[in-house]
Amino acid sequence: MFKKILIANRGEIALRIQRACREMGIQSVVVYSEADRDAKYVKLADEAVCIGPAPSAQSYLHMPAIISAAEVTDAEAIHPGYGFLSENADFAERVEQSGFTFIGPTPESIRIMGDKVSAKQAMIKSGVPCVPGSEGALPDDPKEIIRIARTVGYPVIIKAAGGGGGRGMRVVHTEAALIHAVQTTKAEAGAAFGNPEVYMEKFLEHPRHIEIQILADQHKNAVWLGERDCSMQRRHQKIIEEAPAPGIPRRAIEKVGERCAAACKKIGYRGAGTFEFVYEIGEFYFIVLNTRVQVEHPVTEMTSGIDIVQMQIRVAANEKLPFTQRQVELRGHAVECRINAEDPVKFIPSPGRITTWHAPGGPGVRVDSHIYTNYFVPPNYDSMIGKIIVHGDTREQALARMRTALSETVVEGIQTNIPLHRELMVDAKFVEGGTDIHYLESWMAARKR
Ligand code: ADP
Repeated sequence: MFKKILIANRGEIALRIQRACREMGIQSVVVYSEADRDAKYVKLADEAVCIGPAPSAQSYLHMPAIISAAEVTDAEAIHPGYGFLSENADFAERVEQSGFTFIGPTPESIRIMGDKVSAKQAMIKSGVPCVPGSEGALPDDPKEIIRIARTVGYPVIIKAAGGGGGRGMRVVHTEAALIHAVQTTKAEAGAAFGNPEVYMEKFLEHPRHIEIQILADQHKNAVWLGERDCSMQRRHQKIIEEAPAPGIPRRAIEKVGERCAAACKKIGYRGAGTFEFVYEIGEFYFIVLNTRVQVEHPVTEMTSGIDIVQMQIRVAANEKLPFTQRQVELRGHAVECRINAEDPVKFIPSPGRITTWHAPGGPGVRVDSHIYTNYFVPPNYDSMIGKIIVHGDTREQALARMRTALSETVVEGIQTNIPLHRELMVDAKFVEGGTDIHYLESWMAARKR
């Protein structure tokens, strides 16, 4: 096992990884920007290295600074967390070339999965169900594009091969709008992602977002740890996640879960990963494989009892997964609310000093957050300041616990989306379960009227 790990991230996930290291008796090195100098996990770290000024490009995205920090502190491995450099194949490669272990998949896997066209092709080959669409990137010939769209059937969605974070996508409803949409998406993709390749998929009108968490070691073992329903989204950003997904037959989930684990073995995947699907009328359709730990991993930890971050570290150190698929037992129901420093109605970011922070507690309540009273939320980064996660025997109990937890939580000095969560936890449709990916936005539109 490693003696020392460098954490190349910030905020709640840096603290989360630090906790995993502590429990395993591993020393942690935290890197931080000048804006994060006062973060508690920085003060509590075994070692901390300032890697640059506040802007991410000069700190958390600055590869040479991170690698030198690993060198000067004699860290053996680097955990990238999520966001920042976590899905950057060049970074993974540079980490390994500099003699460190990258806690994640191989640079090659990251590269294949980072290109949505090659990812989809790999999944089709591995027997994972995909959204019907073009076979690979769209050709230049407009006649050919029109022919493909007719076969797929309208509406279709044009997506950039290099896209991410909900960007580089365009829905097309009619043939008249098709060619212009393809050309515009191509031009935008070229400018934004440096890759003008686009592909086409059938656009599903009312899907749910269901994802499968997997873990794979370097000894040909791969398991899936159940699913998460992340359909409550605003602008493709998840706000509430839960496990299991309400109302989907277990057999259907098991079938897709087994396919994901089998695909991992087939492509030689290692580490933690998430297969994201859109789900509509009983069918799952693969959209992307995230090659990192996700924000919402705690709901799976609560239902499976498995520490996903520790497993990432163990498989990176070449250990075998300490359990088989049959030993994975999922229990109860878990829900996560992402707490963002933002206006709960207009969603304008609300950085600044937190004058009071009172965290919730009680049975089945977990809070993953780096904030504290008098903490200054810097304006430079993502607005998420923490997550409240609850677990109960049933969904009903989990929701009741979340309502209590939210009622106990106090954040003063800045605005947060806690009032939004309080409203959603008593919304009849959400409480019923099974809302689609458009539900939250239509709910917000109705609230405005
Ligand atoms: P990104 O990597 O940018 O997040 P995804 O391919 O994961 O892009 O798609 C983002 C979101 O767009 C999905 O979560 C889903 O809500 C929606 N989406 C993607 N593909 C389709 C599709 N074929 N039909 C309907 N919605 C889709």
